[in-house]
Amino acid sequence: MGAGISGLATAQAILARDPAAEVMIFESGNRAGGKVETESVPEGYLCEWGVNAFLDKSPRTLELCAEVGLSPLRGDESAKKRYVYSEGELHKLPEKPPQFLKSRLLSWPGRLRVVGEVFTGPGGKDDETLAEFGTRHLGREAFEKLIDPMASGVFAGDATRMSLKSCFPRIHEVESQYGSLIRGLIKLQKEARRSGKKDTPGPGPGGMLTSFAGGMSELTDTLAGQLGQRLRLATAVAGVSFEQGRYGLHLAAGSTEEFDSVVLAAPAHAQAPMLQGLSDAIAGQIGAIPYPALAVVCLGFDRERMGPGLDGFGFLIPSREKRDILGTVVDSNVFPNRAPAGKVLLRTMVGGARQPQLADLPDEELLDRVLANLKDIMGLAADPEFVSIYRHQKAIPQYLVGHAERLRVIDAELQKFPGLVLTGNAFRGVSLNDCVLNAMKTARSLLPDSATEGSPA
Ligand SMILES: Cc1cc2nc3c(=O)[nH]c(=O)nc-3n(C[C@H](O)[C@H](O)[C@H](O)COP(=O)(O)OP(=O)(O)OC[C@H]3O[C@@H](n4cnc5c(N)ncnc54)[C@H](O)[C@@H]3O)c2cc1C
Repeated sequence: MGAGISGLATAQAILARDPAAEVMIFESGNRAGGKVETESVPEGYLCEWGVNAFLDKSPRTLELCAEVGLSPLRGDESAKKRYVYSEGELHKLPEKPPQFLKSRLLSWPGRLRVVGEVFTGPGGKDDETLAEFGTRHLGREAFEKLIDPMASGVFAGDATRMSLKSCFPRIHEVESQYGSLIRGLIKLQKEARRSGKKDTPGPGPGGMLTSFAGGMSELTDTLAGQLGQRLRLATAVAGVSFEQGRYGLHLAAGSTEEFDSVVLAAPAHAQAPMLQGLSDAIAGQIGAIPYPALAVVCLGFDRERMGPGLDGFGFLIPSREKRDILGTVVDSNVFPNRAPAGKVLLRTMVGGARQPQLADLPDEELLDRVLANLKDIMGLAADPEFVSIYRHQKAIPQYLVGHAERLRVIDAELQKFPGLVLTGNAFRGVSLNDCVLNAMKTARSLLPDSATEGSPA
């Protein structure tokens, strides 16, 4: 249920394991894709209203592309260059430790405090906020200027409430294993070099931004196309029941269909009402996952007239700057085909966990505020030739402190319902890569190897 990337990739993975499986996918909207939605506008721009790209470091998404015959499009190498806006200036984010020491983003005491990270280790809490973790390891200044914008960039979140271990489990693992992140990174880099890996782990996200020539919808449209009649659009699910080992899916239109297994891949806020009655405990847990509003503002400019412009991926803004925007991606630098020749496409995010009300501003005021910020920050000198605004009333699920405990309660309760899987980006990773990885795990859990090989379980 739900034809976003989670539902589509799950259906694909089930059929890849067992082509004879009878799969049906119900989607309440008139199109498949969910938060993946590309629009090609008459002015020649390719606008992404949700997912912009994925990082090619996850082999599963690339495998999925190969399986359905899609050729991914790697972003421009220059997109590795990212900026942070701080104290009136854009600072290039250091990619390597020597650059870090030269960067003026942090004061000298701030830089020395970061170096002192080698003497830090885990705190006493099992589940702590990103702010507590970042301040303990890197000091307050580095937390505010480096970690806090990362919370905005990935989750549009509030670092003082987000759970480090649920949002960034890899960082949590490095801390648990090595104590200090710097010591851990040095050891991991040595191991990677010893085993001849090309990409050694670094402080950045790692991997290249990747999409498709026709934008991200190419992936979800292709998956939807291959499902054919198995995908039922404009068919909302209202509830789920469980009787004598079979699940009933109650459609909003009134009928009920029966299945052996049910995978719920709608957003958590949509899954919660469906589960009321079946498991009020799960419904209560997942209904409490917050999804703050986010507006995506796409602006097209003439390159000659727009002013100095910006190279690289774009910039993020620490919340201490108290700006109206979270950051801006220069989409046409990353994927040049997203704007016509001589034009530039900017994509600015507004709202998120700290200022959700800004995502609801009327169009004119929202645009005025975005343009005023871009003038200040990147010296914008002209009005846009193209404007389009897209609003996600419920955008990205927030993994707050207590999220891991929430998952534990849900998993324990799910023991009562064999064949019922809750998936989607609300649980174990918000990125598209995480959704695809979880889809493969779901398929494996429903059709374990012994089942696909036809031997008794
Ligand atoms: C603005 C924005 C930008 C993002 N950018 C990136 C990015 O660049 N890279 C990245 O990796 N991730 C990004 N993400 C995160 C990304 O959205 C998710 O990882 C992923 O797309 C979520 O997919 P999903 O299938 O889990 O959920 P969704 O895409 O939300 O799909 C859920 C589907 O369920 C359907 N549904 C809801 N209710 C019902 C019902 N009652 N019955 C049937 N169907 C129902 C919905 O209509 C929808 O189609 C971004 C998110 C947002 C909001």
